[in-house]
Amino acid sequence: MVNAAGKFGPYSQPGPAPEAGVHDARVLPGRGQTGSELVRSRIALQVRLTSVAPGDRLPDAGVLAEELGIGEITVRRALEGMCQDGLLDRRRGRAGGTFVAQGWDTVVPLLHDADEAASLDAFHLLLECGLVAHGAGEVAAERLDALQALVDEMDQADDPAQLLMLETRFHLDLAQALGGPGIRELTADLLGRLCLVLPAPAPEVVRARNRCHADLLAELGRGALDPAVQAVKAHHHTHPS
Ligand SMILES: [Zn+2]
Repeated sequence: MVNAAGKFGPYSQPGPAPEAGVHDARVLPGRGQTGSELVRSRIALQVRLTSVAPGDRLPDAGVLAEELGIGEITVRRALEGMCQDGLLDRRRGRAGGTFVAQGWDTVVPLLHDADEAASLDAFHLLLECGLVAHGAGEVAAERLDALQALVDEMDQADDPAQLLMLETRFHLDLAQALGGPGIRELTADLLGRLCLVLPAPAPEVVRARNRCHADLLAELGRGALDPAVQAVKAHHHTHPS
């Protein structure tokens, strides 16, 4: 189960201001998005995770609003904006609804934004380094085993879309294992936005990164903080040569 509220959510509601000196995750870049951006990023994440595909019908706006914990009007406006961008299609009539556009993969590159991608990627790197430092030596063996199973599955995967799906799942599950459900949500925010602004890595890059995943798990397993952080950095610095 991805989360209790459904595959598109949940999203924490604005709460009372935190006490002075208490860390507030809402001010971090990953939480800095509006409700409309959240709708976009969560739909993009579900496409990356292959939970929905081009041509698939999305849940009704009311369902999405409930899953994401935001207002239905905000969801409707976000869906309209995504239709205007060509990411979604609205069809009227009995079999109508809002669908992931068949042209999703050709429209997304038009939204790429190198500056935003660099800033989100840098924040994701810092987050993972912090999580690894926080969790090294304390991660339950069964959690590491579950992550290792994903690494093994990636080694077997041929299909580029499946590789990307597994790559994304690895980082969501790593966040959950090291930081809990709230950090998983924060990571989902970051990765969903990255799906829209950063070109997807080529299969050979994902495979090279999977070696870093394996190194990271081995170092986490023996509680070796420094090499574990190095594996996270090596992963983020793996680019096409
Ligand atoms: Zn990775």
